[in-house]
Amino acid sequence: MKAKVPFLDLNAHHLPLRAEIDRTIGRIIDSGIFAGGPVVAEFEEAFAQFCESPFAIGVGSGTEALWLALLACGVGPGDEVITVPNTFMATAEAITYAGAKPVFVDIDEASYTMDPARLEDALTPRTKAIIPVHLFGQTAHLEPILQFAQAKDLYLIEDAAQAHGAECNGRKVGSLGHVGCFSFYPGKNLGAFGEAGAIVTADAGLKDKITILRDHGQVKKYYHQMVGWNCRMDAIQAAVLGIKLAHLDDANTRRRAHANQYDQRLAGHDQIITPWVAPYGKHVYHIYAVRVQNRDRVKKQLEDAGIESGIHYPVSIHLQLAYADLGYKPGSLPVAERVSREMLSLPMFPELMEEDIDFVCDTLLNATVVDFGARPLAMTQ
Ligand SMILES: *Cc1c(COP(=O)(O)O)cnc(C)c1O
Repeated sequence: MKAKVPFLDLNAHHLPLRAEIDRTIGRIIDSGIFAGGPVVAEFEEAFAQFCESPFAIGVGSGTEALWLALLACGVGPGDEVITVPNTFMATAEAITYAGAKPVFVDIDEASYTMDPARLEDALTPRTKAIIPVHLFGQTAHLEPILQFAQAKDLYLIEDAAQAHGAECNGRKVGSLGHVGCFSFYPGKNLGAFGEAGAIVTADAGLKDKITILRDHGQVKKYYHQMVGWNCRMDAIQAAVLGIKLAHLDDANTRRRAHANQYDQRLAGHDQIITPWVAPYGKHVYHIYAVRVQNRDRVKKQLEDAGIESGIHYPVSIHLQLAYADLGYKPGSLPVAERVSREMLSLPMFPELMEEDIDFVCDTLLNATVVDFGARPLAMTQ
């Protein structure tokens, strides 16, 4: 059965662009250039401009972007990289695949992003880099994180996979650290027709190294300066992304309007915590997540009414089986763990209708009121 309100509707977004996309894909097929090439270079230039950063390098996914960024910064075996546990697995995976050890710090309960006050305790002589995550489209509190990174001579790698177009102190995220990493997974604010990602940087040395690494370490065809990997971007993805990039600001504006409508409808109900908006940031609402008690039951009630919702993320990365060897125990990062039990992501995409949001809010308010009466959530923010 088709949902009354889907979590995401990519078709609705692509419909008005469809003829232009079909024509452009046709041109790529005719050109016979599918891996890298001039269409990728053109998109890289446009994306660098969008991010207000000198260079962008297209790669095969956001995961590859993070991995190559770490390799280019010289992160390897014996090193530690500080990041957060409430993110998609890829953030930590990239650290592991670079040969280093992820060290998780807890998050700030208002913003759900890295708590800068936790960095000092996580620092060791092996710490080489910090990866804050701009979660759900909200920038991490980069100013104190940048100051810390500078003082301790660490690389700052931004995981901007969920925050294309978000800002921190008036500057586009991805452009503030040494390197910014983006994903163009189809469901992201800027999504390809398959897998793709990009790295932005202002450092020409890092740009050169990443460009070589993503293409088997080649400086020119069959001349390998170092051992790299195949992390090239497809020309078809670059072409699709180039078309969609022109509509990204408009799409983000619509997401912000939807978030505003949710905020107003859900305000003043103490059984629901709506997203906090950082005064230093511009939020682009990749995800609109509220916090409720008895989350799984509320989710089921939405589902029964035909409303799709999501959970980002049900298990903090430090408690995943894959990282059992790191030795974290339940309770070691209490804010991230509490939030992971309460988060519920509501439908959010640019083409969402006002009446859909009203219906989601009515259903949600009904579900939470019936379930918990007037029991307020323990708010610590
Ligand atoms: C999507 C995502 C990634 C990984 O990107 P892929 O393109 O799926 O490899 C990394 N970090 C975060 C925070 C993400 O949301």
